Amino acid sequence: MTIPSESTGRQSERERTQNKMKLIDLNSLGGIGANSTYVQIGSFNILVDAGLNPKELGYAAMPDFSPIEDIEMDLIVLTHCHLDHLGSLPVASAHNPDAPVITSIPNVSLAPRMLRNSINVMKRQREEHGITDYPLFLHRDVVELSKRLTAQRYGRGEIYTKGTDKIEVILHSSGHVAGAAAVEFIHQGRRIVFSGDVLFENQRTLPGAKLPQGEIDTLILETTRGAKARVPGTSRKHEVDRLIEQVNTILQRDGSCLIPVFALGRMQELFKIIYEARNNGRIPRSPVYAAGLGMDICNYFHKIHERTKLIDFSFKMMEKLNVRSPDLNMKPGRDLARKGIYIVSSGMMVQHTPSYKIAAALLPHANNGLCFVGYCDADTPGGKLLAEKETGSFFFETLDYLAPIRASVDRFDLSGHADREELTDYAQQTNARNIVLTHGDPEARNWFEATLNESMPDTNVLDPEPLVEYTL
Ligand SMILES: [Zn+2]
Ligand SMILES: [Zn+2]
Repeated sequence: MTIPSESTGRQSERERTQNKMKLIDLNSLGGIGANSTYVQIGSFNILVDAGLNPKELGYAAMPDFSPIEDIEMDLIVLTHCHLDHLGSLPVASAHNPDAPVITSIPNVSLAPRMLRNSINVMKRQREEHGITDYPLFLHRDVVELSKRLTAQRYGRGEIYTKGTDKIEVILHSSGHVAGAAAVEFIHQGRRIVFSGDVLFENQRTLPGAKLPQGEIDTLILETTRGAKARVPGTSRKHEVDRLIEQVNTILQRDGSCLIPVFALGRMQELFKIIYEARNNGRIPRSPVYAAGLGMDICNYFHKIHERTKLIDFSFKMMEKLNVRSPDLNMKPGRDLARKGIYIVSSGMMVQHTPSYKIAAALLPHANNGLCFVGYCDADTPGGKLLAEKETGSFFFETLDYLAPIRASVDRFDLSGHADREELTDYAQQTNARNIVLTHGDPEARNWFEATLNESMPDTNVLDPEPLVEYTL
């Protein structure tokens, strides 16, 4: 249901003002960045997500909360536990100690775990790079935040009241990663939906998104893949098949295979893919090595599976796969002593991580292979290696090592984001009066803006300037 249009003349000026919503995008540097959006809906002040910009350091990585400094939040919503949505939540929550932080059941356990890891990373960066802002919060802030986390089931509405005003909040599963949610607000019949990060296709460990259907008044839409057209004939399944074939090729030529992964979600999915491929005889039995935060996340996934069945992941599978810890005292250029499949973070092969070190050992040897399976920012070592692989060499800056590229380097599109065609199809069926673009680089947003303006001529498509207040 949408509010009556102004032309009906039946709605008083007062009612219309009450029904207006205000929105400020607090991601000051734009792009994917530090996600955080403030909305005022009726009398409710609401913050959706409070992330950290993965490309920045120190306070520069935070959203700019200055426009809402003097506003007390009534509700905070966390869509999912990637740090670009979660990373500054302890700071935002500490400023609004009375606001419940509404999130999905899996996120109630995953968020504190991811934040504790983030503190440790910040402390290390403080020492290594002298970033005195770090850590941006402490373990006790995470403890305080944990007390305010309010679990809500997918698809079930909860009503919040403020004086005589009421708002209904509904979380919808958005695929993407374990615990991910789109959030719907219903206020005086007006439906406002934040898509969050969305994946419609099923992953091996997680079903695809079930976003709210029917007419929506205002849709805040992620645009991550807006600059990339769908390649005809490709699908997630096709990419998984291609990956399995490549892993098989590498193992058959007696090489080691490095798969850099994100700790939350992708590592666990890769275990499942390798486990199933091995059981089906598509790859030979070979040792599997894994390290870091992702291994601990496996324990969390197992528990969430036991309690909620929202994730398809079991520790029994890990035992059967016999996952081992790799010896990380390798030397750049000297081939790995133990051959096998290395499923390690970070996904973008960031310096000082296991994937960076292992790549420096494995790259100069032709029987080995690197398989990238997720998003690699162009400024990260992973992104640079993919861009420069034809040049024949790659410089590992922090190891001061120039590696000849003799191993195979390939990329497989197991993105956690819906493609732009799926998202525009979804947007069209909502028949939204307003669509607000978020979570995308300028090129990606431009494509959505042009495409939606053409296909939905009656819709107000807004690519908001950061820190500017809009009334919708
Ligand atoms: Zn995400
Ligand atoms: Zn994101």
